[in-house]
Order: sequence, then C-alpha cells, then structure tokens
Amino acid sequence: MFVTEDGRKLVTVIPGDGIGPECIDATLKILEAAKAPLVFEIREAGASVFKKGLASGVPPETIESIRKSRIVLKGPLETPVGYGEKSANVTLRKLFETYANVRPVRELPNVPTPYSGRGIDLVVVRENVEDLYAGIEHQQTPGVAQTLKLISDKGSEKIVRFAFELARAEGRKRVHCATKSNIMKLSEGTLKRVFERVAQEYPDIEAQHIIVDNAAHQLVKRPEQFDVLVTTNMNGDILSDLASGLVGGLGFAPSANIGNEVAIFEAVHGSAPKYAGKNVINPTAVLLSAVMMLRYIEEFAVAELIENAILYTLEEGKVLTGDVVGYDRGAKTTEYTQAIIANL
Ligand code: NAD
Repeated sequence: MFVTEDGRKLVTVIPGDGIGPECIDATLKILEAAKAPLVFEIREAGASVFKKGLASGVPPETIESIRKSRIVLKGPLETPVGYGEKSANVTLRKLFETYANVRPVRELPNVPTPYSGRGIDLVVVRENVEDLYAGIEHQQTPGVAQTLKLISDKGSEKIVRFAFELARAEGRKRVHCATKSNIMKLSEGTLKRVFERVAQEYPDIEAQHIIVDNAAHQLVKRPEQFDVLVTTNMNGDILSDLASGLVGGLGFAPSANIGNEVAIFEAVHGSAPKYAGKNVINPTAVLLSAVMMLRYIEEFAVAELIENAILYTLEEGKVLTGDVVGYDRGAKTTEYTQAIIANL
C-alpha cells in the first residue's frame, strides 16, 4: 500500500463503463464527506480503451498506478461480445493474480424480498483466475468452438484455504463447496478432492460438499443454511448473481478480488447500459465494495461510519432508488447519495 506524506492511502479508481461513473461518483462523494483518509488516482480501463485499439482494455498508465497503490476501486467494465477481445476484468484479475473473489450477501433493512426476515448472511468465495475464464478458446472446425476449462491442484488449494480462513476470521461455522464433480471428474473433481483434504485441517468448521445444481436449488429454497460457499470461477459467477437476487438484487451486491499483492474492489453487477447516464441506478453495491476496501486497509472507523449511514438511510425508507421501489417512484442516484451523506 502507498501512503502519502500526510498519511493518506493511495487508491487507484477506475470509473468504468455504463453506470460505472455514476456509481463511482456517488461513492467518492460519500468517502470525501466521511473524511476517509484516501487519495485517488483516476485511471481508465474497458470500452473507451478497446475503442482506442488496445486489445487488453487496460492501458499501461492504469497498470502502473495499480502497481504503486495496490488498492483499486472500480466500476464495471464492458467487454465487447464475440469479437475476440479478452475481458478487461479478466486481464486485471489475472495480471494481479487476485485469485479470490469474495462476494458477501446479507439481508438489508427495508429492501423487500420474498426472504425478508430470514436472516440471510452468507459469503460466496469464487475462484477467480482459473476455470473457463482462462480465456483459451479455439475454433475446432467451422461451426464448432472449444473453450478450455483449467483447474489446478494449486489454485484449488489457495481458494479452499482462503474460504476456511475467512470462515474462521469472521466466526462462521460452515463451509460448503459447490462443484460439478459428478460430471467433470477431473477438473471440477479437483476442487472437491482438495476441499475434502484441506477440511481435515479445520475441524472447528463444518465442511460439506454439494453438487452445484443442487446448490442453486438450495440457495433459493433455504438460503439461510449457507454460511461460506466456495466454488469454481464460472459456478461462482452464476451463484453469486443468484444469491444477490435473494437480498434485493445486484444494486446491493459488493465484492472484493483479493490477491497476495493487489486487491480490487467492485460491485458484482455490470455496466447496465440501459440505465447509464439517467441518474436512476443504485450506487450501494459500489459503495459497500468501498466499505470492504476500507476494512481491508484497516480504516475500520470510517468503514463503520459509512456502513451505518447506508443502513440508516435504508431503514428510514424515505429515499430509495428505483430498483427497490420501482423506477417511476424511485429517488435519483444523486438524491440517494445526499441522503447517505446527511446520515453520516
Ligand atoms: P448488469 O449487471 O450490467 O445488469 C443486469 C441488470 O441488473 C440491469 O439491467 C439492471 O436491471 C440491474 N442492475 C445492475 N446494476 C444495477 C444498479 N447498480 N442499480 C440498479 N439496477 C442494477 O449485467 P449485463 O447487462 O449482463 O452486463 C452488461 C455489461 O457489463 C456486459 O458488457 C458485461 O460484460 C459487463 N459486466 C461487467 C462486470 C464487471 O466489470 N465486473 C460484471 C458483470 C458484467
């Protein structure tokens, strides 16, 4: 981490595409109002960079800033679909080896869902650099494409240990491991075998393997049984979007990509182009990602201040965004941001 002479911590900020700049703008305003001791370097990545012809979507100035700061707060990045460019998100995750994607899912006050009152509080721990996201694809013959699914013992061990350590650190009692090892015995089976071996070292934590399709079913039927859910990259991507739907949707789902050197904090959601520039989106997911970032860099007091202001604003229920109360009645993103600032 880079700390300035006056004691502020450097954060590389990537506003991103679509609704990203609005989410980041709201978050920076709240961080500033809360007097978070941070200094920001704003850098580019994603669609604007692809348009300039840089195939990675991540320019050297951005990489240089991240090498220095080691802490990133980012908006979503668009990946052009089907044109051969790699995802700028995947490039960032692989370049900085952020192997663990942590996606907490927690019931929030006054956000109505069919599950309200059931106390959902779980964390999806998604392997973040292997699996189908290695991005190795071939056109086998005309009309037939192949994508390689790579899962290693070493990568599986890192993510499984991360999940058990997170459970211990947060006082959680149970770790589920979701795989499709019944069909992909070698690739998905690796995660299951490593999980069963590593679990022996954590006798204080209940360890349970679950087939991934049943995990989807159980998450919808009885989500409160889950505490920590560790899984492969693709499964984790899908299950964490599903899980965010249980507590009010993607507007409330934060995440952290953690590596040994660098940590990247971002919402689970994408660039939602349909809502971009309309001042109607919910910035809470990016804001809660910033709260995770503050805890990661040990700024616990500011993290708590902002988290409490979010919870209080939701509890008051006077200013709620369109994804919660309907877009015809919802508050503007800027009004919601001001309401949180007023509650700091
Ligand atoms: P998306 O997450 O952008 O949006 C899906 C829907 O979720 C939206 O239409 C909207 O109804 C809702 N939503 C998402 N965020 C919201 C918010 N903050 N407030 C209110 N409602 C919100 O998914 P998509 O449309 O499939 O993807 C759009 C683009 O985003 C794609 O180019 C994709 O590659 C990219 N993407 C990027 C990331 C990332 O940068 N980490 C993650 C996912 C998708």
